[in-house]
Amino acid sequence: MLRTMSIASGSSGNCIYIGSDNTHILIDTGISRKRICEGLKKLDLSIEDIDGVFLTHEHIDHIKGAGVIMRNDSLPFFGTAGTLKQMWYNKSLGEMPKDLFNVIEKDIDICMGDLSVKAFHISHDASDPVAYTVSCGDKKMGVVTDLGFFDDGIVDNMAGCDAFLVEANHDINMLQVGPYPYALKQRILGNRGHLSNELSGKLVSRLLHDNVKAVLLGHLSKENNYDRLAFETVKQEIDTAENDYTSGDFNISVAGRDESSDIIEV
Ligand SMILES: [Zn+2]
Ligand SMILES: [Zn+2]
Repeated sequence: MLRTMSIASGSSGNCIYIGSDNTHILIDTGISRKRICEGLKKLDLSIEDIDGVFLTHEHIDHIKGAGVIMRNDSLPFFGTAGTLKQMWYNKSLGEMPKDLFNVIEKDIDICMGDLSVKAFHISHDASDPVAYTVSCGDKKMGVVTDLGFFDDGIVDNMAGCDAFLVEANHDINMLQVGPYPYALKQRILGNRGHLSNELSGKLVSRLLHDNVKAVLLGHLSKENNYDRLAFETVKQEIDTAENDYTSGDFNISVAGRDESSDIIEV
């Protein structure tokens, strides 16, 4: 059995819970410790139950709560050498005990209790960013956000997930006509930026199989997207993709910026 819940997802802060009956992890701590504790309560868990935090990359919307959590709760943090190095130098997080930093390698399973966690490369403008899959027995979940584009490697890594969260960051038109400065627009649209709703739908389409229990769309931009638009665009991509599925076959929802998602169990 695996459960997941997005505690927060979006440009303003990210934290995703994944766990089994016995082992519990967080992917990113980009929101306050207080909000994480409130989210965990819905799962009947407290922060003391968390066995480890796995970081995707060092951008502040993924690590903001890390310093406070390390000092309060002494939780071990896992990330690539590049991610941890950048976090170490981020003075806004305050003092962090170095012995809680655990360097991981990509493409190698990390065993934690009855979970197997695997990090794999994504293209984003950070030091050494990754996405994760988490497996328990024959169940598998994946979280992939903050990527400029996807390739076959990402599809291969995410293959067979029973539930997954995929970035649907922006609507390209909203971004282009929106208020962001030119350079920032180019950054987001670039290969090391963020996944548009269209590309998100194309990625989701390639991850679908008969046993997919839930699809979460996440990391929506506050300025350049809205829930309905992300949802409808992804649905349309699924319906026009070359596979046997229609969007109505699956439970697809948007992971909120400020509120936790439903609890998904597979
Ligand atoms: Zn982010
Ligand atoms: Zn980022």
